[in-house]
Amino acid sequence: DTFDQAGLDSRILDVLHSMSIETPTPIQRQVLPAAMSGRDVMGIAQTGSGKTLAYVLPMIRHVLAQPMCLPGDGPVVLVIAPTRELCVQIYHETKRMTKSLQARPDERVESHVWGVQTKKDKEKKEKNERIRSVCIYGGGNGTISDQIAALKRGAEVVVCTPGRMIEILCANNGKVTTLFRTTLVILDEADRMLDLGFVPQITRILQIIRPDRQTMLFSATFPKQLEAMARSMMTTPIQIQV
Ligand code: AMP
Repeated sequence: DTFDQAGLDSRILDVLHSMSIETPTPIQRQVLPAAMSGRDVMGIAQTGSGKTLAYVLPMIRHVLAQPMCLPGDGPVVLVIAPTRELCVQIYHETKRMTKSLQARPDERVESHVWGVQTKKDKEKKEKNERIRSVCIYGGGNGTISDQIAALKRGAEVVVCTPGRMIEILCANNGKVTTLFRTTLVILDEADRMLDLGFVPQITRILQIIRPDRQTMLFSATFPKQLEAMARSMMTTPIQIQV
């Protein structure tokens, strides 16, 4: 009972081993094969069950199967969460898993070729991360200009709250980023997003993402209204409850 047979990239297995994460939790054991098969997934799981890694690990594989993003490209993966705190938590869990994944020379994108190399580009290049993540939320110390700059440099993964994401999609006549390249969407704590009235914003975001995307939705509870929301956002999802 290990991660070795889950079909994960050997680079991810090395990261897991280095962090002594050896045994999948029940939600991970069920979500991993479903997610890796490309199906939509609906997971009912509490915080502390390991639900974040249950989607972060297939997400990493999804990103590694795609070319790195060029400056101006939108993200390959969009993770939507209800609060800044949760976004930051997801961002850190993602970063923890991806920061040691280096881009091979054939995967690297030379941003100066595209005429947008800045000091930050150079720093990024030195770090040479294969998977770049950006956290996008309103309020607090997250200034919109920093978030826009990070998006413009190119990021494979965006973790966002719905309101700020729409603000950024509309900013500068829609020239900041697109979601044309987005093929995986993850909705975390969907019940809280429902409670906070975020369904219209989420619907608006999903409308501009290609319909043949993979969608995963996680929630601690599964009220009736969530069933309707889930059905409208996913295609015959595999339901997993732990
Ligand atoms: P979560 O339920 O996603 O908030 O995760 C709770 C905590 O468990 C996080 O700190 C994870 O890094 C950790 N964790 C997740 N999966 C595993 C695992 N398979 N083995 C050990 N720790 C894990």
